Amino acid sequence: PGGSGIDYAAELNEQQYAAVASAPGPALVIAGAGSGKTRTLTHRVAYLLDQGVDPGNILLLTFTNKAAREMLERVQQLVPSDISALWSGTFHSIGNRILRRHADELGFTKSFSILDRDDQKSLMTEVVKSCNIDTGGRRFPKADLLASIFSLAENTSEDLNEILEIRYPHLEEWSDEIHEVQKGYRKKKKQTNSMDFDDLLILTLKLLQDDEDLRHLYQRKFRHVLVDEYQDTNKVQCDLIDLLVGEKQYLMVVGDDAQSIYSWRGADMSNILSFQEKYLEAQVFKIETNYRSTPDVLELSNAAIRPNKQQYEKELRAVREQGMTPALVPLDDPSIQAEFIGERIDELIGEGVEPEEIAVLYRAHYHSMEIQMELTRRQLPFQITSGLRFFEQAHIKDVSAMIRFVVNSRDEVSFKRMALLLPGIGAKTADNLWTAWTNSAAGRSVEVPKSFSETLLSFKVPAKAKDTWQQLCHTLDELAPDGKFERPSNMIFSILEGVYQEYMSVSFDNHEHRRNDIEQLMQYGESYEDVLEFLAQLSLMSSVDGDPNNKEKKDEGVMLSSIHQAKGLEWKVVFLVWLADGMFPNGRVLESDDEEMLEEERRLFYVAVTRAKDQLYLTYPMTNPKSYTGDYMTRPSRFLDAIPTELTEEWKVSAW
Ligand code: ATP
Ligand code: MG
Repeated sequence: PGGSGIDYAAELNEQQYAAVASAPGPALVIAGAGSGKTRTLTHRVAYLLDQGVDPGNILLLTFTNKAAREMLERVQQLVPSDISALWSGTFHSIGNRILRRHADELGFTKSFSILDRDDQKSLMTEVVKSCNIDTGGRRFPKADLLASIFSLAENTSEDLNEILEIRYPHLEEWSDEIHEVQKGYRKKKKQTNSMDFDDLLILTLKLLQDDEDLRHLYQRKFRHVLVDEYQDTNKVQCDLIDLLVGEKQYLMVVGDDAQSIYSWRGADMSNILSFQEKYLEAQVFKIETNYRSTPDVLELSNAAIRPNKQQYEKELRAVREQGMTPALVPLDDPSIQAEFIGERIDELIGEGVEPEEIAVLYRAHYHSMEIQMELTRRQLPFQITSGLRFFEQAHIKDVSAMIRFVVNSRDEVSFKRMALLLPGIGAKTADNLWTAWTNSAAGRSVEVPKSFSETLLSFKVPAKAKDTWQQLCHTLDELAPDGKFERPSNMIFSILEGVYQEYMSVSFDNHEHRRNDIEQLMQYGESYEDVLEFLAQLSLMSSVDGDPNNKEKKDEGVMLSSIHQAKGLEWKVVFLVWLADGMFPNGRVLESDDEEMLEEERRLFYVAVTRAKDQLYLTYPMTNPKSYTGDYMTRPSRFLDAIPTELTEEWKVSAW
């Protein structure tokens, strides 16, 4: 026994214990929701530490920032020792960490920028423009769509042609042009020293594939690799795991095929189903007990997933006592649905339930709008995990663009974003300024210039922009006096006082509100010394895995979350809203008539209902006055059809 004093056999059931105490080697834990897979993984980490494994030799991977944070907290609660050397995070964050150290090997500098969806779009638009495609009056796919296609190709390692043929047959006529754009896009990223999210994975993989010494270095460093939510790994992630694990195969993965919900990002549940074929020595552990939910919630969950043909059969037994029968709540319309939820949450809090123990889950972010308004009206505290996040707001991005340009002066997107803020500067002038910059000595150098203004002030700008251009140039100097970066919070302060406050006050009605946001950003920046780390964190937080919370901040308030972001988490009380056909399942899926997509949608439904520990409310509006299809009446979600009536109790709520 090691230093933690944990009695593993008492804390875990037989199968969990067997997995936790297993000899090092490939191991798979495959089990349904709430069976303690994540618990097994965290105890495994504690167990390894107790066995004397150095925290720096452990790599712990998962899918969302929030889940990663929770997992690390759980480990820290188990063991007394310092675990800060343990690497834990999302695939993207780990990729970022590795790349920051070795980016030069790939022709980037270690201060490379990370492009979020928005930046990616701007860059793509530039590339399409520069390709001078002759559309002959036909419609060429938009930047957004191109980005999705390239991303899918990267994440599945499938040939672009194949992707077009199978998934986008209507775009095949553009095949040559799309290839050209893809090439141009890759080149442009290199030129501007930027990576998109996919690159964080792909380039890490490439780096380790190509450099044998480095590969061995990391294989030795990460003696033990542990992966949660393995069912959602895509090809690249899976390859990366295999590569890091190396020959010794000290790998433990846990997952549930019934919760695979990321195929749209190239996730492939055959990774989990074929684990044993790849790792022939693999030990497999199955857990058949559910510790999370009351028997009624569990029975409903089992019924919810049953219609799916593609799955490993597994029935879960509940160990908990009977609780409230899950509620099925039809409501007159969306605003009454929101009202019901607000009122019920008020009551629950009145009964002593902590707001943090309550979640409202939905298929799509916009389903939360009325609910956000209702909770605000009732002054109920809440937090949101999806949608337009704090860090994706225009003013936050403006400020970070200035920082990014100073840090990486090849960052074209940031430079242009910043230039376009000035009066009298349009796309054309921004282009010219960029060209002038890239031709200047300072712009060509890989060093941070001692002074930005020295070069930039010599450029010609429209008369209208003269004053603000000067201000901007001087502000940039302040961010890196003599070529040395200021602390992130100081940078933000300089930007706000130097140029941005003035810009906001003439551009936005709600500039006070925005200033407030920027001050919050400044506060957030306080916890960072190193601007590179700060910027990487900002970008990673606005990713699909995003999480608006400060990494130190405790969760506060009722959680409003998309189901995707709720994966792996649990709450005492869960409201699952908008259970109407066309909303959930999603309209596109229904139109496509694609059985596989419907099955994925149903797995999403399963993930949602299995988040509940004690109380589950399934709600839907019976009418939808704002329906864009013009259908006033809604049809209750077809997923509800699979649930025997005796498993729910229908609540009758009248509007008056
Ligand atoms: P999901 O599939 O949703 O990710 P999971 O299989 O990872 O679920 P956990 O989140 O690890 O499940 O566990 C669900 C709940 O059950 C947690 O609150 C956990 O602490 C509890 N639990 C798991 N195993 C045991 C056990 N052996 N004894 C007591 N409680 C347990
Ligand atoms: Mg889990």
